[in-house]
Amino acid sequence: MPRVKKIAVVGAGLSGAVIARELALAGHKIDVFDTRRHVAGNCHTERDAATGVMVHVYGPHIFHTDDTEVWDYVNRFQAFLPYKNRVKTTSSGQIYSLPINLHTINQFFGKAFRPDEARAFIDECADKTIREPKTFEEQALRFVGKDLYEAFFKGYTQKQWGCSPAELPASILKRLPVRFNYDDNYFFHKHQGMPENGYTEMARRILDHANIEVHLETRFHRALGKDFDHVFYSGPLDGYFDYEYGRLGYRTLDFERFTYEGDYQGCAVMNYGDVSVPYTRVTEHKHFSPWEDHSGSVCYREFSRACGPDDVPYYPIRLMEEKEQLAQYVVRSLREVSVTFVGRLGTYRYLDMDVTIREALDTARLYLSAGAEMPAFLHAPLQAL
Ligand SMILES: Cc1cc2nc3c(=O)[nH]c(=O)nc-3n(C[C@H](O)[C@H](O)[C@H](O)COP(=O)(O)OP(=O)(O)OC[C@H]3O[C@@H](n4cnc5c(N)ncnc54)[C@H](O)[C@@H]3O)c2cc1C
Repeated sequence: MPRVKKIAVVGAGLSGAVIARELALAGHKIDVFDTRRHVAGNCHTERDAATGVMVHVYGPHIFHTDDTEVWDYVNRFQAFLPYKNRVKTTSSGQIYSLPINLHTINQFFGKAFRPDEARAFIDECADKTIREPKTFEEQALRFVGKDLYEAFFKGYTQKQWGCSPAELPASILKRLPVRFNYDDNYFFHKHQGMPENGYTEMARRILDHANIEVHLETRFHRALGKDFDHVFYSGPLDGYFDYEYGRLGYRTLDFERFTYEGDYQGCAVMNYGDVSVPYTRVTEHKHFSPWEDHSGSVCYREFSRACGPDDVPYYPIRLMEEKEQLAQYVVRSLREVSVTFVGRLGTYRYLDMDVTIREALDTARLYLSAGAEMPAFLHAPLQAL
């Protein structure tokens, strides 16, 4: 039997919860720290006392994956019930279906195209003078042309990133964001669903093991690492080093919460593409649990802005300037002993929940595999996503 190790896991989000459980199952003693008063990190859900609605406190979270092992893993801790994400958008006073599909195209242009006709039409709209798109704007114009770009991408992207799409890299828009059929399911993945009793209950069950002690409302500082054989750190990478090279840039979100008696918008997520509307979208949380029935409703208007020192970091910006700063932190991290940086904040990457869980499982397995020298990163933060 290998020696029982004393391990610190920083963050009780999905990264921390999964690593803690896998190592606890192998007999190690785990202390999990989180500054928040709850587990589940940014996926935290809680029931609104007045309406009974399950609220996605830090913004909407839909589970979707092609990774069957991860799907089976989460279903061991929570039954995932069927949920299909069908997003709508309001543009110049009209409601359209997203992602742009045959219905959106026909409605927007007042046509009755069949798929091949729509494809040929969009091909005509596309700006073919742009041969090597460098910016998001050029990429979108090259894919769909000016009209669809302005209605569905320009304003939304500007609000979300706080700058013109002409200043963002083309890599953000990787594929043609259009479907030439009536499929309005936002995600393509094999598995999609919502945990019956929310993500926080799921994380709580993952962490429920005799070898795990969870310390909520407790900040972990680098100096505490000396008390442990190893630290798995899912907090902000720059925060671990007390922002020695400055703060890595993030976008944060403000949620303006309001309640409504009845059904406010008839769907879970309504985007707003016009720049004249200051928010990016409205989320109506009860539609994330279509198997429940609530007369009242809880909604969030979502505003995006630059992240300040006291804000919750949401989306890593990862433009040229941030990557240079990130490179300094990566070099610094490699000098750290017995610390592995994990998760969306520890590696400064946007990660979906399924990828987060996959990486956490791989991290724990590597640690448990005989003689493995744990690297600072399993997934290099500077690699393109
Ligand atoms: C707005 C938004 C919407 C999203 N929607 C989806 C979606 O629909 N589908 C999907 O698959 N994914 C979605 N995601 C991604 C999802 O949130 C992440 O995959 C997931 O949260 C990553 O988990 P994590 O454990 O790595 O990080 P986190 O959930 O951020 O957990 C890190 C935890 O560490 C704690 N912490 C930080 N520093 C310290 C410290 N020094 N001491 C103690 N504790 C500390 C924090 O309090 C936090 O709880 C979304 C993300 C955002 C921002």
